[in-house]
Parts: sequence; structure tokens; C-alpha cells
Amino acid sequence: MIIENPTEFSGKCFALQNRDRVVKADGAELTFADLKVLGEKAVCFIAEPENNICAMELSSTEDLPEGYAVKTIRQSFFELAAEDDFSLARARALLSWHTSFKFCPNCGGKLLLRDVETAKYCPTCGKIHFPRIEPCVIVLVRKGDKILLGRHVQRNQDVYSTLAGFIEVGETSERAVAREIFEETGIRVKNIQFKGTQSWPFPDQLMLAFTAEYESGEIKVKEDELSAAGWFDADNCPATPAPGSVAYRLIHNLI
Ligand SMILES: [Zn+2]
Repeated sequence: MIIENPTEFSGKCFALQNRDRVVKADGAELTFADLKVLGEKAVCFIAEPENNICAMELSSTEDLPEGYAVKTIRQSFFELAAEDDFSLARARALLSWHTSFKFCPNCGGKLLLRDVETAKYCPTCGKIHFPRIEPCVIVLVRKGDKILLGRHVQRNQDVYSTLAGFIEVGETSERAVAREIFEETGIRVKNIQFKGTQSWPFPDQLMLAFTAEYESGEIKVKEDELSAAGWFDADNCPATPAPGSVAYRLIHNLI
């Protein structure tokens, strides 16, 4: 269950602002007392006792009190152990869900928090709504010893990355892999292999990582999604995503 504005808590504490995270400058974990110190910038403050998480969304990370620093959540994903990685990803996702999902998709009624589980209910029509996950595929395509990377027109414009996209309604993840690669680059792939997943709570994606082999076709980029794409040597790539993402692990053969 979600508790708003908790008055005490002894679990893992997070102070986040969009894709950034406030940490103690000395490397120690944030405590509930720290959240109280940072609280004047809070726009949302929640706890989820079942998962031992307390999380605060800040309006900004400027002019923080002495003793605090800012790092990206992505950097923390690279540094944290799996259990802490889960807590941070869930904190980020729940803050986004709680602040943005306020009205019933079924009838438009104002939603209230359930007190038996992490969900909201609509007192008007009775529907219960849980935090959502949007599944995406992310794919490393190999052609001999070359890998297929693309530069996105909107996000991370300075780096080449593995190709990715949302799974569409009715699709299996493997079908989504084949469709996405063909749509974005004109390349047909085969031997699609599942490699693992990563929560990517910006705001609510679950990344399903795959590898695939080149089957046929010449690169022809879909210009509203990619500005460029090409085959690169895995050990001699252009700028690629920083550590902390599943794209990094795919490109560097870590999964
Ligand atoms: Zn409703």
C-alpha cells in the first residue's frame, strides 16, 4: 500500500527529481531524517511498507543543504546491488505513478489509494487500477563480427545505441523484435534470443533484451525515428550508452 506523507519510516529512503537522485556527499545512505531536511522541496512524499521504500519527489535539486550531492539514477543502476536497484527503480516508478495517475480511465472519477495493496480504486465505478508496466524490446543485431547501432532523432542524440521500441498490442516480444528492426532499418533478422530484462522506470518501461542475427536487407533508416544507423565493430564503436542501461550490457556482451 502507499502511505502519503509518512511521519516515520525506517526503510530505504530516496529523494528523486526526474532522472536524478539526491545522495549524501559522504556516500552514506539517506535516512528518514534526511528526507525531512529535504522536505521543503517535496512535491510528493510516499512510503510503501511492503517493500520497505520511502520516496520523495523534489521540485528541484538546486541549492541543496550542505552535505548532499546529486547523481543520475542511471549511474546508481550501474553501482547498486540488485535488491537496491529494485528499490530505487520502484521508488522512481511509484512516484511517477502516484503524481500522474489520478483519474479513472474507465469513468473519469477521481481515484483514491487502496489501503490493502499498492493500487488505486475508483469510488464511482469500483474499478481497481495497479501501477502499469510498458514492455519494450531492445535488440542487439549481429552480422558476422559487426553490430547494428542507430542514433535516435529525439533521445540521446549524441550516442549510437541498440534499437528499441514498445511491444504493440497482440504481439509477442519476438514478433516485436522483428517488426521494430525492420521498421527502423529495413533489416530482416533471425535467431532471436532472449537475454534478460531491466526495469527502466522513466516512467514505466520494462526493457526486454534480445540478440538477433542479420538475415537480409540493406539499411534504410526510418527518418522520423533514426538520424543514422550502421554496422560497427563491437570493439570500435562510436559513442554508445553509458553504463547502467541494458543497452550498455548488450553492446559490451555482458548479458
Ligand atoms: Zn471509475
